[in-house]
Amino acid sequence: MKNKVLLIILDGQPWRDARRYMGNLEGWVQSGEARVWKMRAVLPSTSACCYASIHTGVTPQEHNVVSNQSIFRVKQADIFSQVRAAGGKTGAVTHSFWSEFFNRAPFDMVRDIEYDEADGPINHGRFHTMTGYGHKNQMTPSDEDLFATLTMLTERHGIDYGILHTCTLDSMGHRFGHDCEQMDHACFTIDAMLAHYLPRWIKNGFEVIVTADHGQSDRGHHGGRGEDQQDVALYWFGGGEGPKEDVVLDQLQLAPTILTRMGAPIPETMKAKSFLK
Ligand SMILES: [Zn+2]
Repeated sequence: MKNKVLLIILDGQPWRDARRYMGNLEGWVQSGEARVWKMRAVLPSTSACCYASIHTGVTPQEHNVVSNQSIFRVKQADIFSQVRAAGGKTGAVTHSFWSEFFNRAPFDMVRDIEYDEADGPINHGRFHTMTGYGHKNQMTPSDEDLFATLTMLTERHGIDYGILHTCTLDSMGHRFGHDCEQMDHACFTIDAMLAHYLPRWIKNGFEVIVTADHGQSDRGHHGGRGEDQQDVALYWFGGGEGPKEDVVLDQLQLAPTILTRMGAPIPETMKAKSFLK
């Protein structure tokens, strides 16, 4: 592959929280090691719909994932299928929805919680379901564990493309909203955990994207339209020429951008253009 890429999705972190609270990411922007753009999520700005659009580059109206209840194997080509077509190795450390959308559905707890499959679209999958999730009990794994697991996949299995997705901040937002000490601390904590691993990924030859699937309102809601629910930060640690800093990226550009960086074929269904040249 031309480049190796890691995509880190911090579920539910709005643009305004990223820019205020992610001190390590912002420090790397300030020192010139990273760039940051605003990216607008698809509609509905609902998690499952955004996951499917991030990876296929098509709208929810096309892939038909219209709610967190419409979970099935998505038909369109996606980042995993295209990286595999180019001979690359893939890995995922995510919520189980990603396995269902891009490998197989329904999710079998024992068979699918962890797999290593040489021929699959996802070669090395490590998943969690958040079963039992609710207002009083987030049921999210520690982000430290997730970051370490992704690092293990890069170093033990030599993946070319890896995605990590964590629901910690989304769950905190639904529970507490955004103008509160709990969210200040949650952002501070995940930013520090990420900062311990990010230099190691870059040293190992990866280009890295840190972004979110959608934002959240101050009350902790998303699904609808508006800057608060739709706009997220996209941090880029890698090469290529990007647009001016005030350009708002379209979430549908993410998949073709990653494939372009990696030198993998872009399927006909992905109509949006790469934002990196
Ligand atoms: Zn989400």
